[in-house]
Amino acid sequence: VGVAAQGAVDVQAGIMRFAPPMPGWTDVPLREALRKMLDIPVLIEHDPNCLALAERWFGAAAAAEDVLCIGLSDGVGMGILLHGEIFRGAQQMAGEFGHITVDPDGPPCACGDRGCIEAFCSVSAVHKAVRDNPAQQSTALREIIAQRTPTIAELIAAARQDDAAVRAAFVRLGRYLGLGIANVIDLFNPALIVLCGPLTAGHEFFLPELQQQVQRHAWQHSQRHIVLSTLGPRAIAIGACGAVLQSLFERTDNGK
Ligand SMILES: [Zn+2]
Repeated sequence: VGVAAQGAVDVQAGIMRFAPPMPGWTDVPLREALRKMLDIPVLIEHDPNCLALAERWFGAAAAAEDVLCIGLSDGVGMGILLHGEIFRGAQQMAGEFGHITVDPDGPPCACGDRGCIEAFCSVSAVHKAVRDNPAQQSTALREIIAQRTPTIAELIAAARQDDAAVRAAFVRLGRYLGLGIANVIDLFNPALIVLCGPLTAGHEFFLPELQQQVQRHAWQHSQRHIVLSTLGPRAIAIGACGAVLQSLFERTDNGK
């Protein structure tokens, strides 16, 4: 069984160290607990890595070795595939793309820092940007916001009806995501960058700005091949299957 886990995950030990959206999930030995319950081998993988493995095995990254997959969801994560394998770093904490600082004086981030990419490009950052801009909200969206948080689909529908607040929030997302992508293009020279997650549904409103930032700031000789995932909302679960397949080819302690 492959399991996608959030937060700081010790993949080798199969332990969830902590997960900000799940209070109380500190140092949980998830692999051992599930293995006892299910009585079959269990493999734990960090969720952005699952996105990357989904693309590697079943999606856009099938034909490329060096690929960066960026998940735009409640958080902003990155799975790094180098030579077709997940790059984890010394403490298995590589890929914290969402916490790269793009504005030292920017808004606070859930990690305790300020001006991280995630503070501009997560689902909650988009909601906050729209909420904090009532003057530019359309009447229809203002009525929804007065009662509840709109869905992503409702935000996109509003943007298509020329809602200036949503359009501005997506342009801002595109600016900071593009800046971050330009920097990781300089670092990794990837063959491909795949954008995944629910916010990609608003691509028509952020991709032009994103492409402009990449054009302006990435190393001018580097390729900049950026595509949208086509795997849909189950990509992370698909990637947990990919992690099981990948483990057959990688020498690791995971999945024992
Ligand atoms: Zn942060």
